[in-house]
Amino acid sequence: MSLSEILSQAVDFLFPPVCLVCGSRETLTRNCLMCEQCLASVAIITHPYCTHCGRPFVTETERDHLCGECLERRSYMTAIRALGKYEGALETLIHGFKYRQQFAAKTVFGFLLDNCRSDDLDFCRYDLLVPVPLHKKRLRERGFNQAVVLADLLRKKYKVPLARAVLQRTVYTPPQVQLRGDARKKNVRRAFKASDPAAVRNKTILLVDDVYTTGATMNECARTLKQAGASRIDGFVMARAV
Ligand SMILES: [Zn+2]
Ligand SMILES: [Zn+2]
Repeated sequence: MSLSEILSQAVDFLFPPVCLVCGSRETLTRNCLMCEQCLASVAIITHPYCTHCGRPFVTETERDHLCGECLERRSYMTAIRALGKYEGALETLIHGFKYRQQFAAKTVFGFLLDNCRSDDLDFCRYDLLVPVPLHKKRLRERGFNQAVVLADLLRKKYKVPLARAVLQRTVYTPPQVQLRGDARKKNVRRAFKASDPAAVRNKTILLVDDVYTTGATMNECARTLKQAGASRIDGFVMARAV
């Protein structure tokens, strides 16, 4: 047993790990920090889903196709995929991570990425991972950017370079959570700047964020990167609203 394994067992003995969602010490899943019940309640997105935005369809007999919304709207991304639905245990986990600095959630995200994905993304095909940036002021308020943490997890797992400085948020906007529909689009319009166009030119990019709601923020990021010369942009989030 290595020293770090001995230390980690000692820490577990002194501070027994608990489920990050419900606090239970029972039936904790190995390498996960989530109990079996909470893990079972994570709604992983499976086929059939929209080939563009990844929205799951209700009837399981359908094939993957474009959803009604994607048939009508313009998107600068080619495909967006989410690991799970933004509800239940996954929502609690992301919320705790983002607003209560529950960084141990990273362990669960890593576990879910390894064991529960059912999307068709091949992470290794991307030239760059670009996290959706926060404005400097919001970064100071929150202390960290959750999208950077997630993108860093993907960088380590899939050995794809992480480019955190190629896209900047230059306009401080109210949180999207407070807005609906078109107001979200207006809120983020021209809020980003490609600060290093040479680094993204002709690149296949995976934009990374924690949650996808209407897609307005990610789409604006993609528009900015496309204008700077990126060749293809896809999106990946841990959870999407359905
Ligand atoms: Zn639990
Ligand atoms: Zn769609």
